[in-house]
Amino acid sequence: MTSTLTPTLGGAQHAEGQLYVTATHKVRATVGRPPFDWVPYGVQHAWKAGARKTLCGEWTSGWTVFWDRSFSATAHQTCPACVEASLPEASRSRLDPALRRTA
Ligand SMILES: [Zn+2]
Repeated sequence: MTSTLTPTLGGAQHAEGQLYVTATHKVRATVGRPPFDWVPYGVQHAWKAGARKTLCGEWTSGWTVFWDRSFSATAHQTCPACVEASLPEASRSRLDPALRRTA
C-alpha cells in the first residue's frame, strides 16, 4: 500500500489556469546589464490569458501583461484581492477569519 497524500498547491502545473502578472505601468529594470527587462511598476495584478479583466475585476485595457512572469502571491506589491481570487477554494475558506472563528 502506498500513500497518496499529496499536497495541493494550487495546481500551478495547469497551463490553462496560468496566471500572469499585469500592471498599469512598466519600467525598465535598473539592475544587471543591458538589455534591461521591462518590469511591473506599482501593484501587480493577476491576469488569465484572454480575460478582459484582472482577477480582482479591474479592466486591463492599456495595461501591460508580463508574459514571462507568473503571478505569485508572494511577489512584491501584489494586489491582495487578486491573491485571494487566485487561491483555491479550500485555501480561501481557510484564510477567511470569519470561518476560522466558528471552526
Ligand atoms: Zn488585482
